[in-house]
Amino acid sequence: MSKIKNKINTWVFDLDNTLYSADSGIFQQVHVLMGEFVSKHLNINIKEAKEIQRKYYKQHGTTLRGMMDNHGVDPDYFLSEVHKLDYSIIGPNIDLNEELKILEGRKIIYTNANLQHTVDVLEKLQLTNMFTDIFDIKKANYIPKPEISPYNQFIKDFNIDPESTIMFDDIAKNLVPAKNVGFTSVWIDAGYENFSDDIASSKKYLDYETKNISNFLNQVNKGEI
Ligand SMILES: [Mg+2]
Repeated sequence: MSKIKNKINTWVFDLDNTLYSADSGIFQQVHVLMGEFVSKHLNINIKEAKEIQRKYYKQHGTTLRGMMDNHGVDPDYFLSEVHKLDYSIIGPNIDLNEELKILEGRKIIYTNANLQHTVDVLEKLQLTNMFTDIFDIKKANYIPKPEISPYNQFIKDFNIDPESTIMFDDIAKNLVPAKNVGFTSVWIDAGYENFSDDIASSKKYLDYETKNISNFLNQVNKGEI
């Protein structure tokens, strides 16, 4: 296999749990705020809201999609409510900043979150100017990964050559369509198991795995992989 940096000119990064670690607690905050939103909006208790949240995540891919399809919730309102987060717990990622700086080519964020959340997180990580574009859930017409249609739209919007594109994501099943459209895939093992993620069935779609994205990119930059 040829070296990654010789083959790749477009680098696609998921945001949450990929560019920073889940144990920062941010994911948990979003989860709690979503539960509160569902509870308030449907006038049910938190425990029932959690059940709905789990159900929609499984059946619709995201809680948001379930709330849109079943209850006509305005996606921008939902997203702004569930991202009223305490971002102070995210700190700068100097190692990642250095590796991204060296990496040649386009660097694009592809996230199921919204633009404001992405901008806020990147600022905390001190990675604000590292990316050429952000493909957020609004640009994906609120259709989340791993549904295939936003990947095709992503390819069209950014005039992507899949053969020279690599995608990083902590959710293994998000890399299945990535691999199917021809991207190279890198799974970030964030050390937690997302409740509807099925790593076993996605395994054969994962070209690379790493527990540390900065170390991985360091190896890429050195031409070691
Ligand atoms: Mg993620």
